Amino acid sequence: MINLAAPEIWFVCGSQHLYGPGPLQRVAADARDIAGALADSPKLPLKTISKALLTTPDEIATLCMEANSDENCAGLILWMHTFSPSKMWIRGLNALRKPFLHLHTQFNRDLPWATIDMDFMNLNQSAHGDREAGFIHSRMRLSRKVVVGHWSDPEVQDRIGAWMRAARAWRDWQGARFCRFGDNMRQVAVTEGDKVAAEMKFGFATNGFGVGELATAVGAVSDAEAKALAGEYEERYDVAPELRKGGERHESLLYGARLELGLRVFLHGGGFKGFTTTFEDLHGLRQLPGLGPQRLMADGYGFGAEGDWKTAALVRAMKVMGDGLPGGTSFMEDYTYHLPPDGHLVLGAHMLEICPSVATAKPSLEIHRLTIGGKEDPVRLVFNTPPGPALNASLIDLGARFRLLVNEVTAVAHPALPKLPVARAVWECKPDFKTACAAWILAGGAHHTGFSYSVTAEMLEDFATIADIELVRIGDGVTLSSLKQDLRANDVYYYLAQGFRA
Ligand code: MN
Repeated sequence: MINLAAPEIWFVCGSQHLYGPGPLQRVAADARDIAGALADSPKLPLKTISKALLTTPDEIATLCMEANSDENCAGLILWMHTFSPSKMWIRGLNALRKPFLHLHTQFNRDLPWATIDMDFMNLNQSAHGDREAGFIHSRMRLSRKVVVGHWSDPEVQDRIGAWMRAARAWRDWQGARFCRFGDNMRQVAVTEGDKVAAEMKFGFATNGFGVGELATAVGAVSDAEAKALAGEYEERYDVAPELRKGGERHESLLYGARLELGLRVFLHGGGFKGFTTTFEDLHGLRQLPGLGPQRLMADGYGFGAEGDWKTAALVRAMKVMGDGLPGGTSFMEDYTYHLPPDGHLVLGAHMLEICPSVATAKPSLEIHRLTIGGKEDPVRLVFNTPPGPALNASLIDLGARFRLLVNEVTAVAHPALPKLPVARAVWECKPDFKTACAAWILAGGAHHTGFSYSVTAEMLEDFATIADIELVRIGDGVTLSSLKQDLRANDVYYYLAQGFRA
């Protein structure tokens, strides 16, 4: 994946001097053992570093400020092996700007029933030490994930793993740049938003560029480069005969290659992690970019169509979260429905731009008439997507704040679609079609989403917690009446919690 860093997680253990040097050495050694086990766990995508045993307010404050300034630190795991009076933590936690996970674990798994004495009790105190920590976190209204259980428990490591993926995506957003070619598609509301508020809240910058600058980059691509890439297409995809070398429309494929190469040069040169296009502004381009965005997404770029910069940033974050897991992530749009009395389905697609990381098999590279946009026919990859658990996520701007929505879905097999000239996915919604669509609409979810087989609702919930924004999960167990109540309560909470900072 392009531009993907491998940051570390700092494992930090809290205690106090009351226990004396002997027990503290033992506490430090235990913390190193746990951090080492987490570092070695194949379930955890980021390396855990045993960072410190902290016993004074100054040490805690210094460590928190060190974490803030260390680019390689994506977050902290805090654990109170013994009792660590929490007033000691106030100054440090007030300064801390990195995400943290509170791991409520105990070094010893089992009680030694026959031999337990006060020495054991002194060394295995997180049952109350972590409650003291939790109080100050709650008292300070700090957003964090709490994971409970023995550190060797695979389920505990799964919870930590999901958070690490969210923390990695959060770190990836800090200082990230997204490129918006042109502006919004005229009069569309949900793709708009406050880019200043987003930069303050999320740490990434979105800036506009004239599509003429892209046209210049496309024009600078050499014939040899375009031919070489078109040759690569013929090896990787089932290229339609008319587009192949010697075919009557090969020139369109060469132009598609030029468009991809121009995009690559522009995005690489600007250090961008994602981009948007809009078919209402293609000045100087002969085709609407289809194949290019598809292949760039597969390399890890975020993408949003019609100027949708929030979805471009979200798709990038989801690609970072899911990196290394089976199943891909794509830009997606709820396009059309199948509404028989039983088994309502959504067909998701877009005009062109679906990422081949979600393809079932080798995509075919085709050319078809573009029914809107008024440009030459664009080349595109066409494919089906596999059945299985997946989700759609949408980031919307509610004016004073942002909301992240998630709908868990089940992608399903479907009849052949021989006349449909675009990549597609078909899914059932959870908890059911009618509830899910009503909930999505009541919550203001967009028609554009990040669609993923690898990212889970837990990762997105952890991500929203780190970002300190509302997460609306639409899945099993959700009812419309409780969801409406949550939306009303959250409106009040997030407005009051953020105040004038939004
Ligand atoms: Mn669209």
